[in-house]
Amino acid sequence: MGLLNEIAEKLLKNFLSLKEDDWIEWIAQPNDWRDDCDKFNGCYFIVKQMLEYPQHPRCQCRLEKITKPIPYITANATCDIRKFTGYIFDEEKSKGKKELFESWGYTIEDSKYLQQLYISQAIQKYCNGDYIFKGAGKEYGRIEIVIDLPIKSGQVLKIKTGWSLYPQGEIRNSTPFSGFGK
Ligand SMILES: [Zn+2]
Repeated sequence: MGLLNEIAEKLLKNFLSLKEDDWIEWIAQPNDWRDDCDKFNGCYFIVKQMLEYPQHPRCQCRLEKITKPIPYITANATCDIRKFTGYIFDEEKSKGKKELFESWGYTIEDSKYLQQLYISQAIQKYCNGDYIFKGAGKEYGRIEIVIDLPIKSGQVLKIKTGWSLYPQGEIRNSTPFSGFGK
């Protein structure tokens, strides 16, 4: 057995020993193969919602088992307020989302409130593994998180939001509304 096979076997063995609720840090092996592996370097995943491993035949990325991330301690979420002020509530850019949010009782004045609500729910859900892995974007991995949004009728809507994965447990909101979840 060649050295490469031996390494691959060791990595695979390690992967197979993980349980679906374990958390890992994806450690990419630097290479110039133009694969997606580098985009996930340092990112945290729950095993049941991570990218395919190994990513490709000669993938030598390593999965390091970590403890479950803790909100605001070993994981953080950010959401730019302009996702609301300059997008959702922007007549031109929002393509109907402004009317939707307004029909639920929110206006541009509530942008700060929505930003805080998104951040606090997203970080809790991410750390609970309550997200869906959506693949690689242009530069970063993408996940979807369903936000529970209370509306003026007293109902709570489940809305889908998109987040980019950054190293060391950081997620950043990319899409503040992409439809309804379950
Ligand atoms: Zn790889």
